[in-house]
Amino acid sequence: MSFARNAFIVFAITVVVAVLLTSLSSMNEQDSGAYIDNFQSNELTPEKIADSFDFPVGPPDAKGYYNAQPFGENNHLGDDWNAITGGNSDYGDPIYAIANGVVTDASDHGGGWGNVIRIVHKLPNNKEVESLYAHCSEITVEVGDQLVKGKQIGNIGDANGAYTAHLHFEIRSVIGLPLGPGYASNKEGYLDPTEFINNNR
Ligand SMILES: [Zn+2]
Repeated sequence: MSFARNAFIVFAITVVVAVLLTSLSSMNEQDSGAYIDNFQSNELTPEKIADSFDFPVGPPDAKGYYNAQPFGENNHLGDDWNAITGGNSDYGDPIYAIANGVVTDASDHGGGWGNVIRIVHKLPNNKEVESLYAHCSEITVEVGDQLVKGKQIGNIGDANGAYTAHLHFEIRSVIGLPLGPGYASNKEGYLDPTEFINNNR
């Protein structure tokens, strides 16, 4: 009967529209979700060679700070820098570029990351490494800025209240990876930040 056929066509169209709307809304969720990569450019090149590295807080030697969760502990992919005065006393403390380089990301990724800064550094051997600074309360640089070692880039924060204030700090041997989970047993593309800095003073 044609009524039944028309009803079927209406039903089929409704299903198709519902599927389309569902897939659109899940894309929107992904766009605003935690840990979604928002890396802005891997085309930027550092003008100056990064010929020496300092620590990102209390430079040059992280004076007044301690590493609460070193690289590798609990499969952590970075270091967690905190002031020795404890708690949120380091909220708003300055964060510094660890070496000469170019800013490739300076944006709020939301979720467990908050404000993230990435800097690409060109080493004397022509290889590049990327430093990453997360949970910042403020970002004071922009994508494309050419930085010298020790330039303030932002301030320590708590990722919009997600944690007690600290700096989550990574150094990566692969440029422009997704932000990732922050913890993983597979450390390919990641370096031990403290070891790297100590070997490149
Ligand atoms: Zn961390």
